[in-house]
Amino acid sequence: MPRKSNQQRYVSTRGRAAALGFEGVLLAGLATDGGLYVPETWPSLTDGDIRAMAALPYAELAARVMQPFVAGAIGEDDFQALVADAYDGFDHRAVAPLVQLDHDVWLMELFHGPTLAFKDYALQIVGRLFDHVLARRGERITIVGATSGDTGSAAIEACRDRDAIDIFILHPAGRVSDVQRRQMTTVAADNVHNVAIEGTFDDCQDLLKAMFNDAPFRDACRLGAVNSINWARIAAQTAYYVAAAVALGAPDRAVSFAVPTGNFGNVFAGYVARKMGIPIDQLVIGSNPNDILTRFFDSGAMTVKPVVPTISPSMDIQVSSNFERLLYDLLGRDGDAVGAAMDGFRATGRLAVGEAHIDELRELFAAGRLDDEATRRAIAGVHDDTGQLLDPHTAIGVEVGRARRRDSGAPLVALATAHPAKFPDAVAQATGVHPALPDRLADLFEREERFETLPNDLAVVEDYIRARVALSGAA
Ligand SMILES: *Cc1c(COP(=O)(O)O)cnc(C)c1O
Repeated sequence: MPRKSNQQRYVSTRGRAAALGFEGVLLAGLATDGGLYVPETWPSLTDGDIRAMAALPYAELAARVMQPFVAGAIGEDDFQALVADAYDGFDHRAVAPLVQLDHDVWLMELFHGPTLAFKDYALQIVGRLFDHVLARRGERITIVGATSGDTGSAAIEACRDRDAIDIFILHPAGRVSDVQRRQMTTVAADNVHNVAIEGTFDDCQDLLKAMFNDAPFRDACRLGAVNSINWARIAAQTAYYVAAAVALGAPDRAVSFAVPTGNFGNVFAGYVARKMGIPIDQLVIGSNPNDILTRFFDSGAMTVKPVVPTISPSMDIQVSSNFERLLYDLLGRDGDAVGAAMDGFRATGRLAVGEAHIDELRELFAAGRLDDEATRRAIAGVHDDTGQLLDPHTAIGVEVGRARRRDSGAPLVALATAHPAKFPDAVAQATGVHPALPDRLADLFEREERFETLPNDLAVVEDYIRARVALSGAA
């Protein structure tokens, strides 16, 4: 097929997989050489482009920011309609509203989607993009995932009622909170299948890996994933950095962001916004005691430690997979160098970059950590000062952002990655206030649940999936 001149191409961070267009990258997830896809060149926004976005509603701004990334895979009008539809059901007219906390500190609320966390902002787009691309190809896909509770619902909401997708989410039976389970199991859509596994979250993850390693099963059911390394998620997240910057004076004034960070996907989208020409002074990374990134920015070396559970579970992560994308740029886009660094990291649990590289990173990034006690104090402090309730992840971002930002005059935007009612116990402990679920979820405990309980047995789980995929016509 002739390559369209405006089509964005993507290369693997390890340099050995074939370059792909957006459609290929969307469906592939991970590259065949084990790397992650990144754009071959960064699209750029002129000052005029940025100024022209100031008056746009969020969905239109987001479509404009993402357009160069999807170019070649979906037409402009179709894409605008898709983005408008994705954000139509969000419960705030501004989609991603800014709330002022202090004279130069803002909160950007990214919890107005169906599952009350920022992942909806990308996944609502990604589910629709899958549908669009698969319908054109006349194909279907089976999304499988495992969750400890906090992320499964975002994937389910992204895939519900999508014609070309079946989704199966495994969770450990009896080990996720009632709110989290109900957010998944009360979704009444025929293509959504919740499976409670008689085992732990690790058992669920092992089953998932085994299914992807079972090539005949994987191919027969056309397994796919919507995990956080998918480029489409990064592209969609870039939009709210642009929206915040434009609202606070870009291109004429720089802005800094504070981002509670786990897999490095969210904050990497901020890096992309800066590469596109948005004036971003600093990106401040907040960690909980699982602080591999903070230790890296302190020392220049990344070393793996066991995960400890915290009150900010979406950041209880050992290795931040999207960091590889930053490393690729840092090492001069040399795929062999990235491959060698990642191989070494896997073999030894350690990855170090030189002094010059870490100095370069510190021009843009800063990082800090908060333990659970300090996180509760941060929630209480903001509540005392402003009346605002923060979820534990958001509180880490706000507190670390205030502590680690440099004195440049750039306003700070702290990303509120979850609604406080998603983590009610931590919020109530810190403030004495029990955060209420938004109206549209108020009847969550009256809704009917649908899920199957299965033993921790690969053959049983595969049979279950195969039977249901056959019914929907894929296999
Ligand atoms: C997923 C998540 C994070 C971490 O985001 P990454 O993109 O993995 O860095 C932070 N807060 C909340 C509430 C999340 O759900």
